[in-house]
Amino acid sequence: MTRQVPLFINGEFVQSASNDKRDVLNPATQAVLAEVPFATPDEVDVAVASAKDAFQTWRDVPVAERARLMMRYQALLKAYHDELGEILAHDTGKTFEDAKGDVWRGIEVVEQAANIPSNMMGETVENVANGIDTYTYIQPLGVCVGITPFNFPAMIPLWMFPLAIAAGNTFVLKPSEQVPLTPVRLVELFIEAGAPKGVLNMVHGGPDQVNQLLEHPDVRAASFVGSSHVGEHIYRTGTAAGKRVQCMMGAKNHMVIMPDADPNAVLNALVGSSVGAGGQRCMGISVAMFVGDSSQLIDALAERLATAQPGVWDDASASYGPLISPQARERVLGLISKGTEEGATCLLDGSDCTVDGYPDGNWVGPTLFKDVTPEMSIYKEEIFGPVLCCMQVETLEEAIAQINSLEVGNGVSLFTASGGAARKFQHEILVGQVGINIPIPVPLPFFSFTGWRGSFRGDLHAYGKQAVRFYTETKTITAKWSFQEPAATGGGQPNMS
Ligand code: NAD
Repeated sequence: MTRQVPLFINGEFVQSASNDKRDVLNPATQAVLAEVPFATPDEVDVAVASAKDAFQTWRDVPVAERARLMMRYQALLKAYHDELGEILAHDTGKTFEDAKGDVWRGIEVVEQAANIPSNMMGETVENVANGIDTYTYIQPLGVCVGITPFNFPAMIPLWMFPLAIAAGNTFVLKPSEQVPLTPVRLVELFIEAGAPKGVLNMVHGGPDQVNQLLEHPDVRAASFVGSSHVGEHIYRTGTAAGKRVQCMMGAKNHMVIMPDADPNAVLNALVGSSVGAGGQRCMGISVAMFVGDSSQLIDALAERLATAQPGVWDDASASYGPLISPQARERVLGLISKGTEEGATCLLDGSDCTVDGYPDGNWVGPTLFKDVTPEMSIYKEEIFGPVLCCMQVETLEEAIAQINSLEVGNGVSLFTASGGAARKFQHEILVGQVGINIPIPVPLPFFSFTGWRGSFRGDLHAYGKQAVRFYTETKTITAKWSFQEPAATGGGQPNMS
């Protein structure tokens, strides 16, 4: 009997009544891990109603109590770190270390959520006019929803619900239908940590369920992480329905390499950041942009990349796992063929990659192109596979202009020994997260995840102080109180006799 992925509604795991189900597949074997139901409209409604109901009491739970729930949750996530990593590795195909890293980055956000009291502090000014004071309170919105992608099934749900709930909201999570098993375990541990019923709910599904949540009159805000075309739809649909929406979307991240950069550091950084997680990271590097002559470094890069081979989750020698689905693999292989057809030079082609004992895995080997130009499909599209494109420009100015001409602006990196070059780059680049001699500059959760331009829609970004603002309203109170001494009741000292 195939495992059925439950919904989580009103404090209970329940089996969906839906007949619309998809297989959850192990990407290394195609073994069916479970069936995930696409929730019925009634089930989505009940999940929102439960969150709405729970909000009436949860908003009044003292902020220190809400913080303590996050402390207990953090301790449980750490206690079950290995188990979560293993579930996640089966769901996604990630190597065990990478899967544990996914969980760890989520734990760090829960730690940040435990700091909620200081992040909920308002402002005060005494005596804005004679005897009048103004002060602000930060109050939760109500029911918030989160729609998450396949590539970080622990970290990205944990970017959302812990901060929203710590701020006093209630939440409905709609995780990726491709990897619903890690989120189920995240929810179980949240309940074990003591979350009251209705505070967190989870429904599964695709476009219909997401649209219903976005248009639901009782939903106040939606957080989305995923591809750009879906994010644009979610931003339009959600804002048209009057919701507050933040969408973290697709990317095309460049690493710019100056001639004075440390070659060894460049090679190490390029290998890990381009093929790590099979290139399925929104902050992975997919373009190496060399300033000046790059021929020697590219040859050395091809040699190093060839040693980074995919494998199954518990193979300690594997550099990364399979792609998420056969469709994702077909798409990446199609782009690799187009790269050659459109005139790029393929130095390493991972299209025919196999892994012993796993003939059905969605394997793609490390792939390296040089002579890539801006008109080519491999440059214009987000490949989301272990494919690195090398380009050459003559000056830093040219590199900055090229990157700034793209629609997306999630992450970028510069390798150099020159403080002047770094200063110019960080000042002029129109990308929201910049690494200087760091390949993947994902900010820790006391900052926010600040993708720019086409990589983001909304005003306030994911996690950190910005997310607390996203999940709250500011209420400004202006108060006037006059004081008069109470009238004397007469009689001096009480009579003690
Ligand atoms: P996706 O957009 O296909 O799916 C994301 C979520 O949206 C899923 O829950 C899915 O069920 C839902 N969805 C899909 N189609 C929909 C539709 N038509 N209407 C409403 N909802 C829909 O993304 P994915 O393939 O799961 O994830 C990979 C993408 O996510 C990449 O583009 C990557 O760059 C991006 N990503 C961005 C960030 C970031 O922070 N900027 C982080 C991780 C991933």
